[in-house]
Amino acid sequence: MYKIIDGKAIREYNLEKISEQVEELKANGILPTLAVIIVGNDPASRIYVNNKKAACERTGMRSLEYALPEETTTEELLELIDKLNADKSVNGILCQLPVPKHINKNLVLERILPEKDVDCFHPENVGRLCIGNGELVPCTPMGMVKMLEYEDIDPTGKHCVIIGRSDIVGKPMAMLMLARNATVTICHSKTQNLAEITKQADILVAAVGIAKFVKEDMVKDGAIVLDVGMDRDENGKLCGDVDFENVKDKTSMITPVPGGVGPMTIAMLMRNTLTAAKIQNK
Ligand code: NAP
Repeated sequence: MYKIIDGKAIREYNLEKISEQVEELKANGILPTLAVIIVGNDPASRIYVNNKKAACERTGMRSLEYALPEETTTEELLELIDKLNADKSVNGILCQLPVPKHINKNLVLERILPEKDVDCFHPENVGRLCIGNGELVPCTPMGMVKMLEYEDIDPTGKHCVIIGRSDIVGKPMAMLMLARNATVTICHSKTQNLAEITKQADILVAAVGIAKFVKEDMVKDGAIVLDVGMDRDENGKLCGDVDFENVKDKTSMITPVPGGVGPMTIAMLMRNTLTAAKIQNK
């Protein structure tokens, strides 16, 4: 019998703990503050930004929104980031992606001071993650780590297979699992005999971006399956990278979509903002 890993409940547990720590900082005169920049009118980005602001409110943090028009130039965006970098009352800065095509995304992401880089995209933070001393950690992978911790699963010695090698999910998840003593394999679109590898996984992470990609013959009996995917099925309904209905009975634990990994990401953004406030105030 499998167990569903309840992302909403684990998010609430984490947000509660974060709120308590925010209260402690506030009692010492520190108000953790997140600045969110959004450029253009992408409806999905608007929803994400609203959710991030709501999470700040929920945890007692302050949020600042900078909504810039579509035609904003790279230089104008860099000017705003410089201003926020210099503002001691701002602890975390994030620029909602995607930015319009004419903006140099890498220049923008690298301009955010590493200690305010709550998305953990800056090369310095990526480097720190690789050498195992990162304090700000990529939100989606860290959300999965927190799920494993909540479920009392120690990755030590387990074979963690990750399908997907993106900079945002696959690669940082590999680093976090390695740091927790798992044996890690990363697969991607050029991997041969994928099912043979995924069937060896004690912990299988699906970060592919293809609806219901992981089928039951790709999963070992009793595996723990973490589904990062946010896809649409043939009826336009939100689903994951895992064929949940057919895979679930083979697993010992599995995250659903929706209600699994997704809710944890914003909780980890709040965690990073809190951490950034602590780092900046020693
Ligand atoms: P991405 O940058 O598109 O990366 C997808 C990865 O999957 C790539 O490494 C790609 O390999 C690999 N891949 C594609 N087809 C494959 C195949 N047939 N066999 C094996 N590997 C294959 O995606 P991402 O940003 O990591 O996101 C993955 C999914 O997670 C998406 O559905 C996204 O919406 C979702 N997501 C959710 C959250 C959340 O908060 N829940 C956060 C981020 C992402 P190559 O490198 O060889 O191309």
